[in-house]
Amino acid sequence: MRVYADNAATTRMSEVAIKAMMPYMSEVYGNPSSLHSIGQEAKEHLDSARAIMAKNLGCEPFEIIFTSGGSEADNQAIVSAATIGARKNKKHIISTAFEHHAVLHTLKKLEKQGYEIELLDVHENGMVTAEQVKDAIREDTCLVTIMYANNEIGSVMPIKEIGAVCKEKGVLFHTDAVQAAGHIKIDVKEQNIDMLSLSAHKFHGPKGVGALYARRGIMLSNIIEGGAQERGKRAGTENIPAIMGMAAAFEDACNNIDAHTEKLLKMRDRLIEGLAKVPHSILNGDRESRLAGNVHFCFEGIEGEALLLLLDMHGVCASSGSACTSGSLDPSHVLMAIGRPHDIAHGSLRLSLSAENTEEEIDHILTVVPKVVAQLRNMSPVWRDLQEGRREYVIQ
Ligand SMILES: *Cc1c(COP(=O)(O)O)cnc(C)c1O
Repeated sequence: MRVYADNAATTRMSEVAIKAMMPYMSEVYGNPSSLHSIGQEAKEHLDSARAIMAKNLGCEPFEIIFTSGGSEADNQAIVSAATIGARKNKKHIISTAFEHHAVLHTLKKLEKQGYEIELLDVHENGMVTAEQVKDAIREDTCLVTIMYANNEIGSVMPIKEIGAVCKEKGVLFHTDAVQAAGHIKIDVKEQNIDMLSLSAHKFHGPKGVGALYARRGIMLSNIIEGGAQERGKRAGTENIPAIMGMAAAFEDACNNIDAHTEKLLKMRDRLIEGLAKVPHSILNGDRESRLAGNVHFCFEGIEGEALLLLLDMHGVCASSGSACTSGSLDPSHVLMAIGRPHDIAHGSLRLSLSAENTEEEIDHILTVVPKVVAQLRNMSPVWRDLQEGRREYVIQ
């Protein structure tokens, strides 16, 4: 048996998405900017994809810009808000310490350009409150950017409340909703969201395509210069096959949120309860306000990398946290943000499920993980020290 439990890194494309893409690689091949009928035909389909995205986000089609993915949408949203702010001499930006690097690295760049970046503390349970945001907003704040759901530990932020605070104070609010879109019901108007990023490959759509929602009236800055595509805000001939695949996958995901959530919660909670029985283990992220497919644990006395390799040998494909930081020896910035000590953070495991997973696969994970953890602990000098009392347990 081989179990794919790394859906926060990427998902398998759905049949719906593949089927939706096929005609755009053969029959409908025009350039939507061309004036002739073959081009205009492509443009009609592009418009229909935009309408589908808008309908499922609760916004207008012209408020959607297609991008190359979540990273580009994050970059564009943040740079746009910063540019708008600079015109009014507002250069204070509020975010959190556990954002995705697409957000954190963009903020770092702005800091070098003279912006003041304030990263809010994240509580031990992986949550940031609207109250914290309210206290941090100043006269010169131009943007609040806070992720909808964390990609490592799965905690889901009180987005509507944070949005309400920003609205009341007249500050732009952007959310990186890459882990939430297609998994949690989103209505940008109802949830007071000014800008939102999403990415198709996190909801069974194709890789390399995403979208940025920006409320009417928000002047976007270009990240990519060139032609007048996407209302002049994102140059480059549109990737129509990918965009059609994304729209189909998004609609399919949104239509099935309730059914998928119900199925996922059963599997997730069984995993959480099972893995919590492993001695000296701790669940990361809030127990309640949590993505339906996310399980994230730290196991004391082991190395996450070794755990992943052994799990893979036993047919379980998982991650230590973010796909982006694997390969580096630094502990996860997310686990640092919630205050896990270094050696605990190194022993982390993320299992991210999709509705394609089965109860049999959960059984398999529940057999394999405790066995492999025990096996690694048997070889670990740190574990021996803990067992023999030369060292204190951090996780009780
Ligand atoms: C995956 C991810 C991104 C990046 O999206 P890409 O489409 O891969 O560029 C950004 N933010 C979060 C929270 C993610 O999980």
